[in-house]
Amino acid sequence: PVRTRYAPSPTGNPHIGNIRSALFSWAYARSHGGKFLLRIEDTDRNRYVESAVEAIMESLRWLGIDWDEGPDIGGPHGPYFQSQRLDLYRRAADRLIELGRAYPCFCTPERLDALRAAQAAAKQPPGYDGLCRGIPRAEAAERAAKEPHVVRFAMRREGVTVLEDVIRGEVVFENALQDDFVILKSDGFPTYHLAVVVDDTAMEITHCIRGDEWISSAPKHIQLYEALGWTPPAWAHLPLILGPDHKKLSKRSGDTALLDYRDHGYLPEAMVNFLALLGWSLDDHTTILGIEEMKRHFDLARVVPNPAVFDIERLNYLNGHYIRAMAEERWVALVGEWADRGLPASIPRPLDPAVIRATAPLLRERVTRLDEIAGMVEFLFTYDAPEYDVSLLTERVGDAATAVRVLDEALVRLDAISDHDWATPAIEAALRGLEEPLGMKLRKFIPVLYVAVMGRPTGIPLFDSLAILGRERTLARLRAARA
Ligand code: GLU
Repeated sequence: PVRTRYAPSPTGNPHIGNIRSALFSWAYARSHGGKFLLRIEDTDRNRYVESAVEAIMESLRWLGIDWDEGPDIGGPHGPYFQSQRLDLYRRAADRLIELGRAYPCFCTPERLDALRAAQAAAKQPPGYDGLCRGIPRAEAAERAAKEPHVVRFAMRREGVTVLEDVIRGEVVFENALQDDFVILKSDGFPTYHLAVVVDDTAMEITHCIRGDEWISSAPKHIQLYEALGWTPPAWAHLPLILGPDHKKLSKRSGDTALLDYRDHGYLPEAMVNFLALLGWSLDDHTTILGIEEMKRHFDLARVVPNPAVFDIERLNYLNGHYIRAMAEERWVALVGEWADRGLPASIPRPLDPAVIRATAPLLRERVTRLDEIAGMVEFLFTYDAPEYDVSLLTERVGDAATAVRVLDEALVRLDAISDHDWATPAIEAALRGLEEPLGMKLRKFIPVLYVAVMGRPTGIPLFDSLAILGRERTLARLRAARA
């Protein structure tokens, strides 16, 4: 049975690239009737961030990724925190020492620094020179009992190590370029390389699906499996994600925490769809797909090895798509939630649900991200006219005199509508009727009215907005602008 895992290091909020690995690992397990588990790789005590574990789980939950075994729910292969599995790594390291494939290393940081400097000066690749490999076994054991040391793996240095990658195919690594890397640190914690091999084995992982940045570690892992006599999982290294500039994705080009996208009003289904297409496709034409399609149809065979490009425009497009596709009730609830969240505290709560309900359909076509909502509806929740720079009033019509004419004519026509008839059709007829006396197209003069009422030259549809705002407040705002 297929078993996959997401194995993040709790160093902060998981980023886009990281979560893509989680999504693909999860989808592979689900589409193959297997199990997906969450393992926290917290062996680097210096980089540990307390809140990260919660952020990791929250990120997964937000997207709808569930796990069968993990730190919060346990499972048959626990514990799922590496910091609680130190014995297992120690035993594996001891076994490698017995087999002659690992050795304690007593080199001081000063010696290693000097070595690195000498290698750099001689334009040689950096790497441990194997000095402690030569210490006789008995002597090494005796010193290890009292001296601080790390444990290094004795890499085979001749020939090649071959990775059979599910996505990349065969990748060949020259062993001569490898060095004896650390497997156990002086504090007794394992390095990633040892821990990942021990745990993927102990947790019976069948497919190790991870980011491309780990491919250079593969020869280390392959040799560890060989030395320990264990069967490795299938490896699948997911393609790099590049920024729009085709350079490595950076913070500036979109590689920020997944939850930041949530907090700016992206929908989880848009994010899943977006992440899914960063390297995978369902077929040659489907661009709208979600967690259900992934659950049913995801396969590594359709993951491409070449880099994927992170395109925020695509994410925006998808978000708009899902906003327009969702059920009415959910949309109304989201509008209420995001208006409440974004409007200033000075506006009394709770916000009028009737206004939210009336405004929701007007927002659907205009919103790309949910965090735009508050700014678009604020004018409906304030009594006083909005504040704005008066130049906005005249900008589109050319001069102040024309703006005043627009406001005056609008006031006359709107004032003529009774309270009883104050609704979209009458308002629309009145304002369209201004084209003739003003000798201007609606398109040209409507920004004046937008600014007067909303404080901005564009926004949600004006006629409907005025209907919701009410006669009294509308007229007051036009008069205020006129003054
Ligand atoms: N702990 C590694 C990370 O944070 C996991 C790499 C892997 O999936 O093996 O990315």
